[in-house]
Amino acid sequence: MEKDMTSKKKHIQSGKDEVPTMKGIRGQVLTFKADPFFHDEKDCYDFYPDGLVAVRDGKILDVGHFEETIRKHPGLTVTDTYEDCVIMPGFVDCHLHYVQSPMIGSYGDTLLNWLNTYTFPTEAKFKDKSFADMTAKMFFRQILSQGTTTANVFATTFAESVDAFFEESERYGTRMISGKVLQDRNLPDQLRDRSAEESVMASESLMTKWHGRGRQMYAVVPRFAPTSTDAQLRLAGELYRSHLDEGVYMHTHLDEAENEIEWVASLFPEAMSYTDVYRRFGLLGPRSVMAHCCLMEEAEWQMLHDHGCGVAHCPSSNLFLGDGQFKFWEAKDPARPCRTGIGTD
Ligand SMILES: [Zn+2]
Repeated sequence: MEKDMTSKKKHIQSGKDEVPTMKGIRGQVLTFKADPFFHDEKDCYDFYPDGLVAVRDGKILDVGHFEETIRKHPGLTVTDTYEDCVIMPGFVDCHLHYVQSPMIGSYGDTLLNWLNTYTFPTEAKFKDKSFADMTAKMFFRQILSQGTTTANVFATTFAESVDAFFEESERYGTRMISGKVLQDRNLPDQLRDRSAEESVMASESLMTKWHGRGRQMYAVVPRFAPTSTDAQLRLAGELYRSHLDEGVYMHTHLDEAENEIEWVASLFPEAMSYTDVYRRFGLLGPRSVMAHCCLMEEAEWQMLHDHGCGVAHCPSSNLFLGDGQFKFWEAKDPARPCRTGIGTD
């Protein structure tokens, strides 16, 4: 999904030196307002061929046809006109890893081999704050050039990777969700948390530092069930639940590949399913975002629905690795729909 906001932009000065309190952006405006799975397509969007977005103090006040809207707001000055562009809300990317930016397009092996061969060695570099800073800068330039202004983003084990990410987001004023990745087993030494208690305490102090600071939001992020001990998952669940009311998220992976699911079953024999592992540790809730969900059983969809969880569908990633495909019609079953967004992974 890309849009071009770079072509012809006219800047119209309102008057000598005064700063307009209310400003307008004029052009073709497209905005979505309902889910086409459950509503007639024509009721799901508004399109204004000559539209106006009215903004006051950095917040959108009104959107509509130009003539109609400008009449409603006498003090409004049109400051920007985009004649050959479409003006839209920023895109929301529900699941991606900024720390994998340096390895985009690495050979598409199966999920577990791909993690070992490419992902873990790359993520290990993020202990170095300057490497993390450089990658965060590159990452924000890339997503903003493609119109993404909000994203739910994996960092890695190191606090440096979280700080670098939020610092850059704060500089742009973008709305970002991220957090320290919790992972204390089954991965290389350089990335592994040394203790469940310390790792969750480190996550909590990053939460205190970043959650609700400007537009930044924090997520409790166990990488996926196989790379956390029971103790770490339990503590992560406690941390999430105790801050849920403050708007803290939980972000993880679920049911992406066949061998991953078999591995989870062998590590957590007492659980009914992969989803049930997260439920048992208190990690399912209305701010839980589960990435992938390609190979789900009916009982797992029901469980996600019952807990109000969100699901992130990552089509380009699934096609690239080829382990499984998301079934939109299953996620959106009207009998037990799950909120579904799209991610690039
Ligand atoms: Zn992912």
